Amino acid sequence: MENLEIPALIPLTEEGEQDCACGRESASASPFPSKESNQFSLLMPLNQSSGLYRKDLGHGWVLFHNPSKFSPPSILNSSACTLVDAFQSPISPERAIQMTGLPLEASASFLKEAVQAGLLVPADGSSELEEPPNPHALTLWLALTFNCNLSCRYCYVPSMPLSMTEGEGKRAVDWAIAKLKEQGLKALKIKYAGGEPLLCFDLLKAIHEYAQRKAWEENLELREVVLTNGALLEHETLAFLRGEGIAVMLSIDGLGSEQGLLRPLAGGGDSLPLVLRAIELAQSEGSKLFLSATVTSLNLEGLPKLADLAMDLGWPLSLNFYRPNGGGVALLPNPGRLVEVFQEIGELVKERLGQGKGPAPNLDLIHPASPSPYPCQGGISFFAFGPGGDFAPCPMLLGKSSASFKPSPVDEDPHCWTCFWRYLCGGGCPLLRNHHYCQAYRELIPLWLELKAQAQRVMITLARRLPRALHALA
Ligand code: SF4
Ligand code: SF4
Repeated sequence: MENLEIPALIPLTEEGEQDCACGRESASASPFPSKESNQFSLLMPLNQSSGLYRKDLGHGWVLFHNPSKFSPPSILNSSACTLVDAFQSPISPERAIQMTGLPLEASASFLKEAVQAGLLVPADGSSELEEPPNPHALTLWLALTFNCNLSCRYCYVPSMPLSMTEGEGKRAVDWAIAKLKEQGLKALKIKYAGGEPLLCFDLLKAIHEYAQRKAWEENLELREVVLTNGALLEHETLAFLRGEGIAVMLSIDGLGSEQGLLRPLAGGGDSLPLVLRAIELAQSEGSKLFLSATVTSLNLEGLPKLADLAMDLGWPLSLNFYRPNGGGVALLPNPGRLVEVFQEIGELVKERLGQGKGPAPNLDLIHPASPSPYPCQGGISFFAFGPGGDFAPCPMLLGKSSASFKPSPVDEDPHCWTCFWRYLCGGGCPLLRNHHYCQAYRELIPLWLELKAQAQRVMITLARRLPRALHALA
């Protein structure tokens, strides 16, 4: 056990990009949306929250989560656990700190965070009602073109040679900036999508330059990502994107025949050689890619190999469960088998983390860093534009009527009322909600929280060792 004097609480963070629009990724500006720390005083008695989820991570660290709050799960070191456990019955922070003999200032600041994280609550039951977390950024999905050089089995985009004009792209950026200012947000995230957006690389560059200038004029943070199938990734493309700070999310469904089956070239043929070439090129040039796979019945068995490659490369991988969009139920994986394969991936991830590799892959629509009552931000802080000035609250609704679309809070779905993990799940995509994966979620969410927590614990341990190693070398 590490001998740590200062109590530490570290909220889980996440890294990755998804093919899905959700925009719930790191939705909140602050890790802790709760305002309850405003009430914190050293003299006001606190109690440990009831129903806390707790998982021992070894090495003195413990994962804690309050499933009825919108705060992310956190990892606590042994001193922090000792302090939290002093509140089994009502006691003032001042008294608890005295009892544990821990340093006053650091302990008081930790206890304030523990209240924000929902681990401790006022003993008089005066907890404030929690507001859902505010998004940090407005996310703009730009479907630059409906044209594509692949013909994926599950694609919902109507493949046709129709692209956005530069004027339409710039007007979408203007609209998004006006909207985010109206909402008091400080950041714009643009997802360049398609079809295949690299078929319109000049258009992408023109919109990027415009967005960059507008963001600078308006003093906004700008984040951009290209969602690509990788077939057109060349040295010049990668160099431009890297130089401009535009992230790249590459879709890949496996390292064997499953890639060609699910993501064949538009004219027929296997896309795997092109995608592997793109990965090799990116690796050799020092570009870090975000990988994203759609989990179906056809590629499930090959996912451990893909997860292994991603961890070897040190690249984030998002594993997005397939949901039928207007057909294709044959691609739905059997939930029982899905759990078994993901448990196998879990074992592999633990082994690789122990070897200093990472990060751990992301589990479908679960965003541990931003629990929320909403499944996504569609129509709230997430909007899609397509060719012809088409506009929708979600890319899946481009070209369709979206007047009745409104993501409803998970607490309004009777199926979810008693679900322990409802704020980490959000209730599932409102367009494709069918609860096919609920059992798998319930079995896999605790495992994935543990993996993410272990990954963070390893990072902290390595970061602490580095100065000691440098000192020894000096
Ligand atoms: S796992 Fe299922 S029951 Fe639980 S919140 Fe999600 S959709 Fe609802
Ligand atoms: S409706 Fe579904 S696909 Fe669209 S943003 Fe929400 S969760 Fe994502």
